[in-house]
Amino acid sequence: MTQSSQAAAGASKSPADPFVPEDDALYFLALGGSGEIGMNLNLYGHRGKWLMVDLGISFADDTMPGLDVIMPDPSFIVERREDLVGLVVTHAHEDHLGAVQYLWPELRCPVYCTPFTASVLRAKLHERGLSGVVPIHEIPLGGSLEAGPFAVEYVTMTHSIPEPNALAIRTSAGTVVHTGDWKLDPDPLIGTVADEKRLREIGDEGVLALVGDSTNALVPGWTGSEATVRASLTDLIGRYPNVRVAVSCFATNVARLESIAVAAAAHDRHVALVGRSLWRINDAARANGYLKDVPKFLSEHDAGYLPREKLVLICTGSQGEPRSALARIAGNDHPQITLSRGDVVVFSSREIPGNERAIGRMQNQLVTQGIELVTADEEAIHVSGHPARDELVRMYQWVRPRIAVPVHGEQRHQQAHAALAQDCQIPDQIVPANGELIRLGPDGPARVVAHVRSGRMALDGKRLIPLDNGMMRTRSRMVNNGASVVTLVMTARGELVTAPQVAVMGLIDEVADRDMLLDVVDAVREAVAGLSKTARADDAQVKEAARIAVRRCFNASHGKKPVTDVHLVRV
Ligand SMILES: [Zn+2]
Ligand SMILES: [Zn+2]
Repeated sequence: MTQSSQAAAGASKSPADPFVPEDDALYFLALGGSGEIGMNLNLYGHRGKWLMVDLGISFADDTMPGLDVIMPDPSFIVERREDLVGLVVTHAHEDHLGAVQYLWPELRCPVYCTPFTASVLRAKLHERGLSGVVPIHEIPLGGSLEAGPFAVEYVTMTHSIPEPNALAIRTSAGTVVHTGDWKLDPDPLIGTVADEKRLREIGDEGVLALVGDSTNALVPGWTGSEATVRASLTDLIGRYPNVRVAVSCFATNVARLESIAVAAAAHDRHVALVGRSLWRINDAARANGYLKDVPKFLSEHDAGYLPREKLVLICTGSQGEPRSALARIAGNDHPQITLSRGDVVVFSSREIPGNERAIGRMQNQLVTQGIELVTADEEAIHVSGHPARDELVRMYQWVRPRIAVPVHGEQRHQQAHAALAQDCQIPDQIVPANGELIRLGPDGPARVVAHVRSGRMALDGKRLIPLDNGMMRTRSRMVNNGASVVTLVMTARGELVTAPQVAVMGLIDEVADRDMLLDVVDAVREAVAGLSKTARADDAQVKEAARIAVRRCFNASHGKKPVTDVHLVRV
């Protein structure tokens, strides 16, 4: 580690920390994706250099008003970006590459990924006006690269998107297998099966640590195969011969798009894509030789000319996203596509925790119109892309690491994963949290040696802001409690020149609650009048008295304390 990074790492959350990085050691640091599912950002440190693996986003929930996209706070690595030798992306899911377009300008490092991932990334960078700016190095499947003291080999896996990869990261302090997102599917339909042979060979060489996917560590058995889903979808569409069928799935699941197309063709139906992200993935897939045997999808415009029994629609919006194709169709707000009584909507997806209400709202709208719903609860029309327990066992049998490092999960998933690794006779397990700098090797037990700055950033309109700052706390309070602004015009000696003006937003009806507002004005006047002469000459004390009076009034009448700002003008 360089001089500057030593100083800065030492000056982390725990300033008394005696941590001094050793040149020969190998460190692991998650800044995102540990203790949570989403926004992965992992770093490996060795010989003064850092290698980043994945740079993803999460989506904001109801507790973050006005926000859409959130991502890890990259300050730690931004401060030492001259030592960042590269970003290696495992696959094209948003939680692994979605933050590149926002954070790369602060990092300015080479980016490595396989061809399909590169296509998806280029499309995103283009939309952000960063075309040709980011140096993207395409690595073939099974290929390798050298970045500083790290030699990285891509190992093909299976997952719910084309070209998922594990990484074998070799250093002079040992080899790490970073699994990325994976599952074992004997019949993945797109791409090859996971490269068991290569994983075993790497295991034979000796592996220091396996840093791996914990998403389904609580799920017994196996996740199941995409081939089963294809058969179920084919059977299902056959049961609705005379109506329009719409299928909603994750846009990035190219094998699923192919399955739906095959199922549709079996019943002599054409397939249309409805939703921009589906077209973006379709283009990236076809540009890289996927979907070769699937006829070109119809546009939503062309779909309008086909009789309902000749058509299957693939729609975005399986999570109830408000602007998605399915949400607009459900709300009768789509410019081209309508569904009617008797038609069927198939959810070939799972509910991501946090989206249940949005999905429920949309499904209620559909059912109210007499549209039938089919979900993965009733039919085998979805499989997860992450390893269940028996698949994790298989991975440990192949790779045989000295240390298990469960990531990509909430605490409960990580802990279950660590316990399973112990059952698999893995000698050492360590459950990381974001911001914990962990020494993996070359020797000794894995241990946390420092805590560095970590946190979350949010895209707020066009700006990136820290999520835990005062502004966002104020915004949440305004959403929950309303806001008010008081204007006072006073003489220098503290006498009111006119009656206080009070404006209230989001808490009262200005007309119906007019009397209430007059009470507030009186309360402010009395509060100011009740101050001593010297206090009335002091701006801070006047403002605070007025603020408290407003909040007290509304607390008494409404049980609410609005965010209150006081403007004081002296004349
Ligand atoms: Zn993921
Ligand atoms: Zn993934």
